[in-house]
Amino acid sequence: MKITLNPNAKDASTRDALVAEGGFGKYYTDHMVVCEWSEKGGWEEPHLMPYGPISLDPATAVFHYGQEIFEGMKAYRQPNGEISLFRPQANAQRFAKSAARLALPEMPEALFLETIETLVKQDAGWVPYQVGDSLYIRPFMFATEVGLGVRPSNKATYMLIATPAGAYFDPSKAVSVWISTEYVRAAIGGTGEAKCGGNYAASLVAQRAAAKEGCDQVVWIDARERKWVEEMGGMNLYFVKGIGAGATVITPQLTGTLLPGITRDSILSVAKDLGYKVQEAMVSIDDWRDGVASGEITEIFACGTAAVVSPVGLAKSVMGTWKTGDAQPGVITMQIRNHLLGIQHGTVLDTHNWMKKLC
Ligand SMILES: *Cc1c(COP(=O)(O)O)cnc(C)c1O
Repeated sequence: MKITLNPNAKDASTRDALVAEGGFGKYYTDHMVVCEWSEKGGWEEPHLMPYGPISLDPATAVFHYGQEIFEGMKAYRQPNGEISLFRPQANAQRFAKSAARLALPEMPEALFLETIETLVKQDAGWVPYQVGDSLYIRPFMFATEVGLGVRPSNKATYMLIATPAGAYFDPSKAVSVWISTEYVRAAIGGTGEAKCGGNYAASLVAQRAAAKEGCDQVVWIDARERKWVEEMGGMNLYFVKGIGAGATVITPQLTGTLLPGITRDSILSVAKDLGYKVQEAMVSIDDWRDGVASGEITEIFACGTAAVVSPVGLAKSVMGTWKTGDAQPGVITMQIRNHLLGIQHGTVLDTHNWMKKLC
């Protein structure tokens, strides 16, 4: 890797003050990684360089046709001060799959991981110490062929940036959701399984509609039958049926239109480890309404890298308003959250070998 260090890197006390502010995505670390690809030459040597603006021709493909993908992952400080990543190979594999769907080049797993290791090691001082806080890592790739012709780009740029992330979790508050029957996130054969910016661009108007209804997030249902629950915003969903040791933890089945979350996948294992029955199944909006009305569904939560686990309380839609339990974070939700966070922060035994030590 080519290395150009930032002569204006923040001094330790300035950096520590910014990290201590918490929040999400407000400050970026001193460096970034850039790696260029072309059809002719393949991947070039990646370059670690000072964080800063980039310059692109106005006719660059990504601005016009949205050929772009990204990933989201975290580095966690361990009790002994070391820094570890959570399941980085899973992000590398998903990044390659997203690339294939968007006709972008697949980045070899080793190269992807090398860029992350190099950036996190260089900017290790930006990884927070407090439990719940982490360094959020954002790899992304976009089409950089210049020209307005519509075709898969013969050039692409991969970039990697990182931002300290505070725990933005208020345990006293469950999120409210607006079940959108007007807009659709993904259809069969579309890009629902790929982590691409275009999915988010198409979702923002529904997010605005949810806010107008007084809700925090939008819940997506399937495009074809308009009845199957898929995801919440940029997170996967879980339903808990029953209470105590006999509870079953259920997540909507991956049908090709859901984003296969790494947190979702991890929770299938964590819930089993904690003694619960787990299920991947089709969940309809009728199941949701009837389940919370009868009390069979006791807890609902969403999960993803950024917030890890978020309890879901009130659900609103044109069909009415349904409340889950007392609309407070559930016991099993919090148990799963604490267990997963414990693995990530090195305070709970990592029996699945998910953590990868960096430095
Ligand atoms: C990233 C993402 C998720 C969560 O995936 P994780 O790997 O758990 O972070 C869920 N849904 C969508 C739409 C996403 O983009």
